[in-house]
Amino acid sequence: MGATRRQLWFDPDAHARELAPLVAEIAADPPSDARALDRMVRRYPKRGRGLFRKSEIIAGYRALGGAARFGASERDFVARMRPRPVRTLSGVTPVTVLTKPYPCPGRCVFCPNDVRMPKSYLSDEPGAQRAEDNRFDPYLQTWNRLRAYHEMGHPTSKVELIVLGGTWSHYPESYQRWFVKRCFDALNDFGAGVDACPAAGKAPARWNELATRVEGRSLDGESVYNRIVGRELRAIAGGLLHVSEACSWDELEAAQRRNERAGARCVGLSLETRPDEVDAAEVLRMRRLGATKVQLGVQSLDDAVLAANRRGHDVAAARRAFALLRRFGFKIQAHYMLNLLGATPEGDVAGFRALVGDPDFRPDELKLYPTLLVESAELVRHFESGAWRPYTDEKLLEVVSACLASAPETVRLSRVIRDFSSHDIVAGTRTANLREVAARRLAERGVSARDIRAREIRGEAVDAVRLVLRERAYATSTGEERFLAFETAEDRLVGFLRLSLPDAAAPHAELERAALIREVHVYGASLEVGGRGASPQHAGLGRRLVEHAAAIARRAGHARLAVISAVGTRAWYRNLGFTDGSLYQLTDT
Ligand code: SF4
Repeated sequence: MGATRRQLWFDPDAHARELAPLVAEIAADPPSDARALDRMVRRYPKRGRGLFRKSEIIAGYRALGGAARFGASERDFVARMRPRPVRTLSGVTPVTVLTKPYPCPGRCVFCPNDVRMPKSYLSDEPGAQRAEDNRFDPYLQTWNRLRAYHEMGHPTSKVELIVLGGTWSHYPESYQRWFVKRCFDALNDFGAGVDACPAAGKAPARWNELATRVEGRSLDGESVYNRIVGRELRAIAGGLLHVSEACSWDELEAAQRRNERAGARCVGLSLETRPDEVDAAEVLRMRRLGATKVQLGVQSLDDAVLAANRRGHDVAAARRAFALLRRFGFKIQAHYMLNLLGATPEGDVAGFRALVGDPDFRPDELKLYPTLLVESAELVRHFESGAWRPYTDEKLLEVVSACLASAPETVRLSRVIRDFSSHDIVAGTRTANLREVAARRLAERGVSARDIRAREIRGEAVDAVRLVLRERAYATSTGEERFLAFETAEDRLVGFLRLSLPDAAAPHAELERAALIREVHVYGASLEVGGRGASPQHAGLGRRLVEHAAAIARRAGHARLAVISAVGTRAWYRNLGFTDGSLYQLTDT
């Protein structure tokens, strides 16, 4: 890896004034835990924008004098900076990549308009900074993230690719194919020890030079973001797409096939979109791209609130999207917002309870986002007129606590608040650990959160013999769901499987008479493929869950069992007797 590319990312000398005292403080007074480290980092913000990342602080230590200047040896210093291995404890290493800035069909009043970013993201968010540093190139983002994980000692053999940015379904199909293919190319190359970043790094790089700031207070339903970004794209690419950002389905499928045996396998692929963009053609396209999960912007279950916020779709659109995605077997992660324009705390809690309880919805995962006001959002106008106010911290805590207490055991509440840096927030909570604070509030009242995240065992070793297999059933608009879970005697969740038993005609010939496995997840520190250990992933729990699902499907009258497998798990399912279809893998029950 050449020095030139390193400098492209970060130059410690250019930040020596803020970086040196931060490094000195960490070296002299080792932070007791991740939160203490976070507090130190926040005391020395990076000049111009954002906070220093851990890798940048380590680079600063090395470049600005190392042990000779700061006292602590490099080994000790790096150990202080190393995050606890939280990200990979659920068994899979997440790699988040952002699409390039591109027009979005939405006009949502709360949505940021940072024209250097894909719609709805701010350039100071940690993931967004990484994407910008890599010029939104999917190959560079994926490869460099894997490299960073590897350098921090995390395994990289099983990867969940999470594609974020604006409305995925609105990007041209050729860009979608190219974007996903380049992610797969990076996984394949990284797993094989190949670094093709220098060849890949030729994408236009003007986004971070774009000085235009959008003032939310001057907006009134017009998408200035779309106008500026559209103009810039035409200047860069001669159109909305650069000529190099395209590939054929054959090329994508070849990259996917290579990934089936790669050293870094894609075991999940997530895309994000709006409910009104979900139709049968789009769902099929997502599946063909290799997606297994869709992040769906529901935001509210109140039509008046959706209209006030210019969402451009109603609750019925979300109902239709849920039904379609579930029929095709996707895992559904819903985004739900609190404190939107026109919302009330009581309405937010009622909407959340409907989201997790109404058979038309019942997502598998949830992101709960209290509205945070940023200066580029049209909501500023409503703030200044007094039409919108953030809930007080106490009121918001009550709402979040009520939502957390209502989340059932079959749902994972994956995130509670956006990752905006506090200096971007004009109004709204700055409590970054809202979930923990809400969990404490519940605990004081003798209530425990019961969602998946509260109960998952994460990295601990377990005795596979003493596990109990529990089965939970719930109705949805498309049939019945079974949530099969291995649990410990201490009520910890070790692994689970989501099985759909559809009640109507299959939406695709391959799914005729088939029950559908939508997810298999077994926890345990993510070991290298072929590794050995006491991890639940190596105790055969996945196989036992699939066998149990097949028996349930047979009893329910389904002749076949299909699975919406990720590209990197195809080989595992073949070992279990599944054969490849065009979109799913199948076996007789
Ligand atoms: S659809 Fe999503 S990305 Fe587009 S404007 Fe609305 S919130 Fe922002």
